Amino acid sequence: MTDLPARRLLLVHAHPDDESINNGATMARYAAEGALVTLVTCTLGEEGEVIPPGLAHLAPDREDRLGPHRVGELAAAMAELGVTDHRFLGGAGRFRDSGMMGVAQNERPGAFWSTPVDEAAAPLVEIVREVRPQVLVTYDPDGGYGHPDHIQAHRVAMRAAELAADPAHRPELGPAHAVAKIYWNRVPRPVAEAGFARLAAEGSAFPADAALGDVPGVVDEDRITAEIDGGPLGSGGSYADRKSAAMAAHATQVAVDGPFFALSNDLGQPLFTTEYYELVHGTPGAPAGTRETDLFAGLPAAEEAPREVTGR
Ligand SMILES: [Zn+2]
Repeated sequence: MTDLPARRLLLVHAHPDDESINNGATMARYAAEGALVTLVTCTLGEEGEVIPPGLAHLAPDREDRLGPHRVGELAAAMAELGVTDHRFLGGAGRFRDSGMMGVAQNERPGAFWSTPVDEAAAPLVEIVREVRPQVLVTYDPDGGYGHPDHIQAHRVAMRAAELAADPAHRPELGPAHAVAKIYWNRVPRPVAEAGFARLAAEGSAFPADAALGDVPGVVDEDRITAEIDGGPLGSGGSYADRKSAAMAAHATQVAVDGPFFALSNDLGQPLFTTEYYELVHGTPGAPAGTRETDLFAGLPAAEEAPREVTGR
């Protein structure tokens, strides 16, 4: 394992686009600093709605070719972020998008939501033992906002971290590895409120605005333990700029308008250039009452000086 970079970050997400919306600035930063950034996406997002009218034929109720199209969108987004290690859980198409909670697709054979957690966790255990991340990022137990695939991604990620650390669990999947720190994606309520206030004041290209309740992972400020500042949008080369470009690469799912964006519901919402996290496993690397500004803070094995940041 000596050929692995010193710092290794694993992110587990439900659909293509979730990674860019939640963690795009963070991923761009660590990739630029020479860390190994591994993205595992659990489904192809086959049940998504399609924004561009010219691509509406891809939709699941028509040609059902949205999944393969989104594989290409994800690749383009990762190119924007400088992330080269992106994988689909169990291989592309192994688990299918389950649709929104309560629809018939939830129980469809092969749907991610209807797959037993340990079955879906097995290929992730193998990845954890291969890339040996110090840091894992995923959703909270509600999946941030209740989507079945997001809830399942949380369960699978947490279970895989547990199983990967157990030397007695399936040694054929690789030598045991314990993830040092696990974070859940968060947005502090005051930050979300300020974002919607700006949206209301400035307006956007979208016909109406979303509500704060539409933003996944919003919690009170005191739950936040780490923040990664992507810098200003529009500065020409900030991590926030890369995040914005990565989100726009998911063109069937996301429309970006400066500091705002919309999903297929065409409701404007703030694009957060700083990303926030809650440490739920491991030791904080910042004094009590302060926030970490590095997800690897406090990890001796990962504290070597990062490589010089390269422009692009
Ligand atoms: Zn999603």
